[in-house]
Amino acid sequence: MDCLFCKIVEGTIPSKKVFESENILAFHDITPAAPTHVLIIPKKHIPSMNEVSHEDMSLIAEIHQVAQQVASDMGVSESGYRLINNCGPDGEQTVHHLHYHLLGGARLGTLTG
Ligand code: IMP
Repeated sequence: MDCLFCKIVEGTIPSKKVFESENILAFHDITPAAPTHVLIIPKKHIPSMNEVSHEDMSLIAEIHQVAQQVASDMGVSESGYRLINNCGPDGEQTVHHLHYHLLGGARLGTLTG
């Protein structure tokens, strides 16, 4: 399958990992949009939020647990952070493998301007 994040999971494309378990991988975004910018992904190929099914709920729960852990490890738990999923064209999703951006380390501004 020609999926960038599947290749990162397989290790054929390198990444700066910050967390790995049987089902989840977290690594630094190659183009950070904040001082802390980590991507958290399920190892299972799910193209987007639209394809998340009932059987994936334990994966989604684990992603939240990992986000909490990564935020702590990155030292942003207390200052705060944002967990974002971009879905589809209007959501500006560019990589079609479910992922969540964990952003922190600076005041991120309001979403509505
Ligand atoms: P999206 O726009 O929500 O789909 O986010 C995709 C993210 O993947 C962007 O923030 C990119 O900077 C990031 N990205 C693309 N290629 C790589 C890579 O090889 N390693 C780490 N992050 C990547």
